[in-house]
Amino acid sequence: MFTGDSTNLLELSATTEETNASPSNSQFREQKLVEKYCRETQLLKLIEGSAGKFVENYRTHRRPEDLLAPVQVRLDFVYRDLLRLSAKLLELVVEEPLQFAEAVKYTVYGLVRDQLKTAGLKPIDISQLHAHWRLVGLPYTPGLQFEPRDNCLRLGLTQVQGILSAYTPPENLVLQTIWYCGSGCMRNAIQTSSTDAPLCSGCSRPMSEYQKLRVTEQYHLLAILPGSAIQTPRTTGCLHRAKLVRLRAHTHDCDLKLGGSYLITGYFAGGASTYQIEACHLRSN
Ligand SMILES: [Zn+2]
Repeated sequence: MFTGDSTNLLELSATTEETNASPSNSQFREQKLVEKYCRETQLLKLIEGSAGKFVENYRTHRRPEDLLAPVQVRLDFVYRDLLRLSAKLLELVVEEPLQFAEAVKYTVYGLVRDQLKTAGLKPIDISQLHAHWRLVGLPYTPGLQFEPRDNCLRLGLTQVQGILSAYTPPENLVLQTIWYCGSGCMRNAIQTSSTDAPLCSGCSRPMSEYQKLRVTEQYHLLAILPGSAIQTPRTTGCLHRAKLVRLRAHTHDCDLKLGGSYLITGYFAGGASTYQIEACHLRSN
């Protein structure tokens, strides 16, 4: 019972501190798991390669805007390797894909920053880092199936298996834009996802974009029908509703064919207002 004496207050504040401290501890642990995994696989080499390109690009041109260039790296987390090397990391990606994505981003950022430091460059902004992770080779797992009609909306990783019934033409997703102030104060700025001109932090005038340095990625929206819609097309009293998936270019290697059967692994991205799944891998099935 809370009596209001000082001992209890001390205990209370200790508990609060513990609660505050635990998320960052777990984030730290998750980042260490990702880092260990990268070091044990070829992912570290890929990260070093991307950071190396950034350094080389800057050394060749020596333009201030080159320090705002993106560092893009595609990281395939292979199911079998995860199973073999880090079951904990596999559990994290399946149960908490968004947290996994954050851990990957911050880990890669740390590794890139270390390499830039070695090369004598200042750290980049985290918005310049684009860690395109995928989870490759996760087998079809009935427990992960996404079935909105059963109100079975998994918050973790989810799978959609079915027939590609429609897809949009490629659309552009803006990953990063780079801006400069044209009124002589030599300031630069980076934005992610927005193409609206930011205001200069020095003179408050709208900034201009280095159009050629805009970083984009194409994506399609897919409509996936359940296989049963094709196998038993004459079943009456049954409405087959397509599931919507956003498929970014880095998440698949195979071509899209209408009528083709695919297995998609993905998750709900924060802020998605529809039942739209963000794919983190697609393969023919
Ligand atoms: Zn300015």
